Amino acid sequence: MVGFGYDIHRLEQGRKLILGGIEIESEFGCVAHSDGDVLIHSIIDSLLGACGMGDIGEHFPDTDNQFRGISSILLLKHVLDLIADKYKLVNIDIMIILEKPKLKLFKEQIRDKLVELLSIPPARVNVKAGTNEKLDSIGRGDACAVYTICQVEEL
Ligand code: MG
Repeated sequence: MVGFGYDIHRLEQGRKLILGGIEIESEFGCVAHSDGDVLIHSIIDSLLGACGMGDIGEHFPDTDNQFRGISSILLLKHVLDLIADKYKLVNIDIMIILEKPKLKLFKEQIRDKLVELLSIPPARVNVKAGTNEKLDSIGRGDACAVYTICQVEEL
């Protein structure tokens, strides 16, 4: 089965930019209820989608104070635990859309982190990054979006 995930967060000066658990050197970071790891949120939605288990908002409501400022990695680990006895992740492909900074130097680091978090071989995790060609909110540097698609198989 395949699952699709998408997330977008507003960027604000002076906040940390965390993508896939890696802190990216940037003047701007994501505004969020959690740590704003838009990439991990997108992965979570793709996994939940593939397993037919709803969406991130149902599992971790942003009205719930226990999730305030929480590391998104903990949320991902919780989802991985939920699906572990029924599904195995086959591969995952991620597309980050961010105007700046350019992520060329960070993609490998992000992939390595995801290999560790998802416990799958490096060849089964792909991280892509691009800009929005200066168009719209992402192009103006006001937001960062991430698309994810993954495949899981039933155990
Ligand atoms: Mg989010």
